[in-house]
Order: sequence, then structure tokens, then C-alpha cells
Amino acid sequence: MKVTEHIEQSKGKTRFSFEILPPLKGQNIESIFNNIDPLMEFNPPFIDVTYHREEYIYKELENGLLQKQVVKKRPGTVGICAAIQNKYNVDAIPHVLCGGFTKEDTENFLIDLDFLGIDNVMALRGDAVKSEIYFKPEKEGHQYASDLVDQIECLNHGKYLDEELQNSAPTDFCVGVAGYPEKHMEAPSLDSDIHFLKKKIKKGADYIVTQMFFDNQKYFEFVDKCRAEGITVPIIPGLKPISTKKQLNMIPHRFKVDLPDDLIMAVVNCKNNQQVREVGVEWCINQSKELINNGVPFLHYYSMGKSDNIKNIACKVF
Ligand code: FAD
Repeated sequence: MKVTEHIEQSKGKTRFSFEILPPLKGQNIESIFNNIDPLMEFNPPFIDVTYHREEYIYKELENGLLQKQVVKKRPGTVGICAAIQNKYNVDAIPHVLCGGFTKEDTENFLIDLDFLGIDNVMALRGDAVKSEIYFKPEKEGHQYASDLVDQIECLNHGKYLDEELQNSAPTDFCVGVAGYPEKHMEAPSLDSDIHFLKKKIKKGADYIVTQMFFDNQKYFEFVDKCRAEGITVPIIPGLKPISTKKQLNMIPHRFKVDLPDDLIMAVVNCKNNQQVREVGVEWCINQSKELINNGVPFLHYYSMGKSDNIKNIACKVF
């Protein structure tokens, strides 16, 4: 079922959903199930599965020269989606990237998803590969997520890349896109970022999931700005509980989001990461309760492959 249909069916009640990462190459799919199992009692209508593009590593050869190798450390997004739908009978939402994909790769990827009975996709640009500063699309790929949304919409209308295809079957994907309450790191301003977010919606995206934020006011202001710009689709808040001291520096650096001073000081005063987890869970419970009181359709948790703190939050919230 489509995310938009889940929202309609929930009739104003906030529902629980979460996102998982495929396991590192070499690990078993059981590691995924072990993290999903404890969260199923909260009846998530869908589970997102992230996509991880290739990375370049350099291996030193015997002669001292370096050899560039392409590796995918977390393959398996499509297989995990199929396994989730099969095992839990809930919708699995694969993330689909521009990065690393030609339009032809994208079309074939979407055909696989359609054949597997997947109803929703999250359309994203992806980041630059680690060795580069700026995002570079493939030669025959997409520069922006809005171009990817456009391709998905074309397929939803039966328009494949090969225009000579006759009687081609349309897909029927519901499309999610990313939104950034504190603006995307490359955007010159929040207004310009919302301008391009609107473009993704105009091209056919059906709902927005936000980047993590730790101050609900940022989310409320972002929603107000989006509505003022005429964006009417659901805006699902994404939440992540802090769990280590290291994240105090890593999160602002990597995701360009601010942490409120009260949260920072509470984490600084923790004696160990067990205490940090408790602070993070408590903070996230309070954020969740306030968001529910403001009628958000879903609370979407970034589990980062660990379910225990998400379970502790969900127990208090749902
Ligand atoms: P876009 O919407 O293309 O925007 C990228 C930048 O370009 C923004 O600054 C925007 O303002 C600007 N822009 C957009 N259109 C134009 C235009 N026409 N002209 C000029 N500027 C423009 N990454 C992964 O690798 N895998 C994942 O599974 C994944 N899941 C995510 C899930 C969520 C909910 C979120 C919020 C992020 C996720 N990401 C993931 C990270 C995401 O790929 C990065 O944040 C990426 O840098 C931007 O992706 P986007 O889809 O928002 O890009």
C-alpha cells in the first residue's frame, strides 16, 4: 500500500515507522531481522531501507603503487526489501539514488521493484563519493533528485526510456523525497532549498521525509514555510536519538544540523555512553510527544541498525 494511503487510513492518528541500513557485506540477513523483530509490536505500516553507493578504496600493491578499487560495503537494499515484505507483510521502501546510476540502471532497478510488488520508493540524489567534494552524476545519470522523480513519474505513465516500446505497462510508485528543516548542507539558503523541494513535488513526489532535527521548532517553522510556498503533501518528521558522546561533533559536522544547548550539556555531563543513550532516549520521547500533539502523520525513526533505543522510545510514545 502507498504511504499516502496509510496516512489516509490512519485518520489523523500518528503512526510509527523506521529506517534500517543493509548490513555490512559479509553479515547475515538475520542481523536485520534481529533489529526489526522487537519493533514489530508497534505496527509499522512501512520500513525504509537505505541505499549505499559505491566507495573507492586504494590498495597498496607489492611494488608500492596504489590500486583504486570500487567497493560496495552495504549492498542488498532490494533483497532486504523483498525479504521484509515476505516475512513481515509490511511495506518496504527502498531508497533509490541518482549517484552511481545511469538512467538505464534506474529504469531497470525500478522494474525490479515493480515486479517485487513494492509500492513506494524514496527518491534521493545521494552524497558525493567520499574522495570527492561535490556530487557528480554518472555520464547518463541524474544531477538532482527532481530529475529522478521525473523519471519515476514517466514510468508511472508507461513512458520508458526506449520510446519505441509498444503497450508498455505503467508502474504505480508513490514517491517520497527528502526535506531539510535546517536546509541541505549545499543550499545557499533555506528559501532556495524549499524552492527546489517544491520542484520535486511539482514533478510528482507524494510526500516528504525530513532530515533529523533535535529542536521541534525547526520542524514547525519548516512546515510553515513549505505550506506558505504551496507545498501541500505530508511532511513526515525524521528523528534520531543521540547515543554516543562522539555524535555531539559528528552529527553537526556530517549532517549540518544544530543541537540545542540543553541537549549538548546533558550529554557532556554523562559519565559514559550508557548515560548518553538514556539522555538521547528521553530527549527523543519529548520530541515525539510534542510532534504527536501537533498532529504529524508519522514519526519516522532513524534506527541506524540498532533497535533497543528506538524500542524504548516507542514504548513510551505509542
Ligand atoms: P536534491 O533534492 O537533489 O538536492 C541537493 C541539493 O541541490 C540541495 O542543496 C538543493 O537545494 C539543490 N538543488 C536541487 N535542485 C536544484 C536545481 N535544479 N538547481 C540548483 N540546485 C538544486 N543518502 C544515501 O546515500 N542513501 C540513502 O538511503 C539516503 N537516505 C536519506 C533519507 C532521508 C530522509 C534524507 C533526508 C537523506 C537521505 N540521504 C541518503 C542523504 C541524501 O542523499 C543527501 O542529503 C544528498 O546530499 C541530497 O539528496 P536530496 O535527494 O535531498 O538532493
